[in-house]
Amino acid sequence: MASLYKMRISDLSGIGAKRAALFNKLGIYSVGDLLNFYPRSYEDWNSVTKIENLESGGVFCIRAVLGTQIVNSRTGGGRIISKGTVYDDTGTLQIIFFNNKYISSMLKSGKEYYFYGKVTADYNIGQMISPTFSLVSEGAVIRPAYKQTAGLPSKTTANAVRQALSLLPKEIKDPLPEQVRRTFGLCGLKQALNDIHFPADSNALDNARRRLVTEELVVLNLGMRSLREHSRGESGIKINKDFSTDFEKLLPFEFTRAQKRVVEECVADLTQKIAPMNRLVQGDVGSGKTAVAASVCYTVIKNGFQAAFMAPTEILARQHYHTFCKLFESADINVALLTGALKESEKKKIRAQLACGEIDLIIGTHALITDKTEFKNLGLAVTDEQHRFGVAQRAKLLGKGENPHLLVMSATPIPRTLGLIVFGDLDISIIDELPPFRKPVKTMLINELKHKRAYEFIKNEISKGRQAYIVCPLVEEGELDNVASAEEYAAELMLREFSNIPVGIVHGRMKPSEKEEVMNKFSAGEYSLLVATTVIEVGVDVPNATVMMIENAERFGLSQLHQLRGRVGRGGEQSYCILVSNKESPETKQRLEVMCSTNDGFKIADEDLRMRGPGDFFGERQHGLPQMSIADFADTKSLELSQKVADYIMFVYKNLCNDELRLLKNEVDRLFMHGGQNSLN
Ligand code: ADP
Ligand code: MG
Repeated sequence: MASLYKMRISDLSGIGAKRAALFNKLGIYSVGDLLNFYPRSYEDWNSVTKIENLESGGVFCIRAVLGTQIVNSRTGGGRIISKGTVYDDTGTLQIIFFNNKYISSMLKSGKEYYFYGKVTADYNIGQMISPTFSLVSEGAVIRPAYKQTAGLPSKTTANAVRQALSLLPKEIKDPLPEQVRRTFGLCGLKQALNDIHFPADSNALDNARRRLVTEELVVLNLGMRSLREHSRGESGIKINKDFSTDFEKLLPFEFTRAQKRVVEECVADLTQKIAPMNRLVQGDVGSGKTAVAASVCYTVIKNGFQAAFMAPTEILARQHYHTFCKLFESADINVALLTGALKESEKKKIRAQLACGEIDLIIGTHALITDKTEFKNLGLAVTDEQHRFGVAQRAKLLGKGENPHLLVMSATPIPRTLGLIVFGDLDISIIDELPPFRKPVKTMLINELKHKRAYEFIKNEISKGRQAYIVCPLVEEGELDNVASAEEYAAELMLREFSNIPVGIVHGRMKPSEKEEVMNKFSAGEYSLLVATTVIEVGVDVPNATVMMIENAERFGLSQLHQLRGRVGRGGEQSYCILVSNKESPETKQRLEVMCSTNDGFKIADEDLRMRGPGDFFGERQHGLPQMSIADFADTKSLELSQKVADYIMFVYKNLCNDELRLLKNEVDRLFMHGGQNSLN
């Protein structure tokens, strides 16, 4: 098999330079690539429809006899049209081909064929245009349909694949050792390749798919595991003493059990492991991740090291700075803020203090990772809202110390099975409990007819001294939809509904400093209502805000909606989330109803994954995983199976360098090489 990756596609007969270039366009360079170019779908010729039951517009397979010889004629434009009539025991049908002068010699009158194609009706005569066909005597098949490109129809690819399959040696070496295949009931590679391209029946196809999907996910899984194990050597930061009990005395509240457990997990990493801590703390919005991070910072600082806390935005950095200053007021810890918005002279001063060790805890934005920032002895790097930072930025912050400890925090609840892969290079702790006495946000779904009442409701809340958000999705360019843009919408609201109320607007095209100013004013209570596109910051904490109204809610993923909803319900007052949608389709309704029925971010994430796939969990940021050729990240069952298989492999063979795993290891190397996975660098 490995040698097939060295054999070029043009080495196959019938594929010259021109055709090879077309294959290249589809990402196929070698014969091995071709075998891994799996069909996009299949035409199932096993389910045959009688001619009398055909419906215009549908795609069908019929089994019929060609009654007359095919007749060629020419159109005015010189195109060849070939027509013939076929029949079964229920009726007749016309078949038509364009510009294929060989058709008349390929189809023989009196013979029985399968014809597969789209059916149309012309003056009540049923027609099938350019059907594919094969002799019934050759047997029914499931035909592969490949992704096509101009000049390279699926059929040509199928022929090339057939040829490639015939080149496979009788026995091919299998990346999955036999013992693994036997244990999990997976078929051999050769059979899988044959059956994924040319399955005899749907059973064979299912088995082939299961085997190939599992292998691909196992390879990914093992690759991410080895990243975790090899990425970091021994830590230069020795943490000997646990100060977390002292820290708890500084808190104005009691830790929840979940917070306590996660702190313990972090402290165990710090004090008991040779490698540095490499931990992701996942917790739903409002679960109290900041206090957990503060506790870990406290222990590191009291052991004589510096800590850095990086937030994705200026607003969040400032917010955290205030929280930490207050928390550490009496703790003899020197806290400072470093962001891009500070004056140059101030930045310079802070950087000098950081370099000489006067500052114990620095909170900041990307300014922390510029070359100018140096530490005396960075012991811990914390990144908040991890999904906003790329792996490279994380690495840069770590580079500021001698292999310091890392704590990554994320509010994006990623389904467990997916998280195991995406964050495969991190250990995971989950804060699965909210602080007590939180009132769950009440969520309702309305249509636009009830807008008026919703506005009245918001006005009423504002009259009680509360604040509210209204979020409306930004119009994308070229979108001819009547979705209001944030500015127009806000202008209208200010004129009509909220003329006596101070309204702030934030939208995507504003400069960061402008957004900042509006957000600060909202935070300070100068605005009672904030109209925004999705840009409102994840993590923003305005406890006085009690209403979140979301227009065109169907345009958001559930996880995004959950993040938005997390902006309210942060204070002691009852809070509300109003989802507005005019879409009447049952799927949309069902999706949005999930929001009304639960406040559990993980449950919502699972639903979201099931209904929309994995893209949403990462927003605009790429998840950085290599491209899969057959596996689907939304397929939880396969993710789970691959996890089990990978566990088993590591249990039996101990490590990837085991001789039995040589081929599998090659696959791992190949996947990560092609995928441009940046965390490998
Ligand atoms: P997130 O996990 O979304 O980052 P925060 O850390 O911002 O959440 O915490 C949300 C709010 O809950 C903050 O105001 C914080 O002070 C408060 N909080 C955190 N932990 C507790 C607790 N154990 N008991 C009561 N309030 C808490
Ligand atoms: Mg937070």
